Amino acid sequence: MTRAPHLAARLQGFGTTVFAEMSALAVATGSINLGQGFPDYPGPPAVLDTARAAIGTPADQYPPGPGIPELRAAIAEHVQRFGGHAYDPADEVLVTAGATEAVAAALLAFLEPGDEVVLFEPMYDSYAAGIAMAGGVARPVPLRPPADGAGRWTFDPEELRAAVTPRSRLLLLNTPHNPTGKVFTRPELATLSALAMEHELLVLADEVYEHLVFSGARHASIATLPGMRERTLVVSSAGKTFNVTGWKIGWICGPAPLVSAVRTAKQFLTYVNGGPLQPAVAAGLRMADDYFTGIARDLEYRRDVLVQGLTDAGLPVICPEATYFATADVRPVQPDGDGLAFCRTLPTRAGLVAIPSGVFYDPAHAHLGRHLVRFAFCKSDDVLGEAVERLRRLA
Ligand SMILES: *Cc1c(COP(=O)(O)O)cnc(C)c1O
Repeated sequence: MTRAPHLAARLQGFGTTVFAEMSALAVATGSINLGQGFPDYPGPPAVLDTARAAIGTPADQYPPGPGIPELRAAIAEHVQRFGGHAYDPADEVLVTAGATEAVAAALLAFLEPGDEVVLFEPMYDSYAAGIAMAGGVARPVPLRPPADGAGRWTFDPEELRAAVTPRSRLLLLNTPHNPTGKVFTRPELATLSALAMEHELLVLADEVYEHLVFSGARHASIATLPGMRERTLVVSSAGKTFNVTGWKIGWICGPAPLVSAVRTAKQFLTYVNGGPLQPAVAAGLRMADDYFTGIARDLEYRRDVLVQGLTDAGLPVICPEATYFATADVRPVQPDGDGLAFCRTLPTRAGLVAIPSGVFYDPAHAHLGRHLVRFAFCKSDDVLGEAVERLRRLA
């Protein structure tokens, strides 16, 4: 636990991250970094060229607070095309500085001090910090790994129920899910929506991996379930869909009063960002369907390469249904079952870097993910091929 001298109490424990430690280790040892999830291949030319053309034009100046009209219209069209639900670009769509700001602004907009947020763990690393900064309290519900690699991550509806209290304000749902690669099924979404309606919870749905879903799984937004539109805010982002994780163009969609509340917080966080990138993301969102199916098929192939490599190296894998990440059980090659120790020695053992899944849990529950490690497969053929080659050193 980090205790920086002047760090506010609500941020104690969020000081240094294992992501920084592992990235530094990768550099220091010349290892292949399969830790942080970013692609090492470029985005589609239609998107990149539009951004280049916009630089040096008035698009370099402050865009309108909610985002340029063209991008808001493209977001609404895109949601309608792939999700089948309608949002009014005038007041139901807000452009944000990445999905991260959308989530943070929503937490700041809706949480009173002490309000509770129900969410699944392992969880994306910004959630716990975002909840803490908003004065809220995280109530994590564990996702359980399958008994064998062919199964799916599941949750116990009773554990979910037990996490809801009179202080619960919000359900934060990430599907497709990082780090597990789980895609919540329709019956699971129905369980969650019944709970949200019964307890009058707002739902904040982080769907940044909406297009990175593999054969056999299907993404659905909880906002499309009966009765859910009015209480749900859906977050997505250009980063994962267009291989531009450094652009930080995200958005949040929902009924006007909820989006208006988020805008109130957002306007004093960044106000606006990425002027010349906004028309480029609009162009991307308007690309034909085959771009979106193509990126899923391409990434599925990369998943298969890494999953086979991990399996051949003696690491059982929980095969992801979506996202950039595969989770492996290190116990066969790390007898003490310590994923963090495994990750600290992996650079010298095999010239690779990965992330111990324990960091995605509430510290009180970290034992649930102690033996698990997350590997990213959003890497070019050469890099992935070399990574698989190096994994053989573990066998
Ligand atoms: C990458 C990621 C984000 C961050 O998206 P940005 O648009 O870069 O802010 C948010 N949520 C999840 C689950 C992610 O994996």
